[in-house]
Amino acid sequence: MARVVDLRSDTVTQPTEAMREAMATAVVGDDGYGEDPTVAALEARFATLTAKEAALFVPSGVMGNQIALRVLCAPGDVILTGAHQHVVGFEMGAAARNAGVQFWTVDDAAGVFDPTEVAEALAAEDDHQVAVRALAVENTHMYAGGVPWSSPVLAELAAQVGERPIHLDGARLFNAAVATGEGAAALCAPATTVMACLSKGLCAPVGSMLAGPASLIERARVERKRLGGALRQAGVLAAAGIVALDTMVERLADDHRRARHLAEAFARALPEADYDPATCRTNVVSFDHPEARRIVADLGEVGVLGGTVGPRRARFVTHHDVDDDGLERAVAAVARLRG
Ligand SMILES: *Cc1c(COP(=O)(O)O)cnc(C)c1O
Repeated sequence: MARVVDLRSDTVTQPTEAMREAMATAVVGDDGYGEDPTVAALEARFATLTAKEAALFVPSGVMGNQIALRVLCAPGDVILTGAHQHVVGFEMGAAARNAGVQFWTVDDAAGVFDPTEVAEALAAEDDHQVAVRALAVENTHMYAGGVPWSSPVLAELAAQVGERPIHLDGARLFNAAVATGEGAAALCAPATTVMACLSKGLCAPVGSMLAGPASLIERARVERKRLGGALRQAGVLAAAGIVALDTMVERLADDHRRARHLAEAFARALPEADYDPATCRTNVVSFDHPEARRIVADLGEVGVLGGTVGPRRARFVTHHDVDDDGLERAVAAVARLRG
């Protein structure tokens, strides 16, 4: 069998040579005492990129989201989200366990929210229902197929929700920035807190960032410790994160171009899926098909790995470690699929 083309996720990448070099030579200290200069540099860098007062290095995106819920909400609070967001369906019920919050979900099949549904949720307290305390938005929206929210759409939502805080789950924030041509800071402006992963398309081996107002990030530091996520000489990891932010963002455009090419191949091979490849604007190819599991298995047999994110929803994700040659092998395998 030819070399495997691993499109299961953009988390499967190897750290680059530059990252390994930076990790080997990183100046480190005990971050529990605030003495790791490399962690401090990474946090400052991310805060600048997102135009927030402060940032915190966390071990994973899930932990970043969970900490945000804990600092923005109290147990029993309702947070409005899209029905298919990561924080709702893909974090093992962590929000209930760690933050005690309840979700009010709106339709997000197209990635963004329907303003009418949002308005109804916000008005619910007039009908003796629980008040919406905060919102969580995902940019890019993974399940919907890596759909980016542009800043005008985010600004419209922010205007609608008034004073309520917005948490931006930006696991793939930089994919959104590249796809929309907007800076990360513009995309983060309507949000109170923002989480972004260094370990996805940006190729760092470990870690995510949480940014927001200094007072909230101070509390986030305490919550990180409560969750067991405080680290010591974490500069060895932060060093790779700095390389990720400094050198791995622009190239995401290559992943987006390849994903669109793959999306077109699926649309041609599986017309019954009614998949519009133009909806693929970043690095996630995701579509409904009654036999999604069988399609993933058939491709797996010939060394093209993907996955399902729902019973009828297939997902393939492009990243740094799949080049044009690998992508062409995937496209050829898709062309041989039976529908
Ligand atoms: C991957 C992902 C996360 C969680 O990140 P981990 O580092 O895997 O914990 C959160 N939100 C979204 C949208 C993701 O895709």
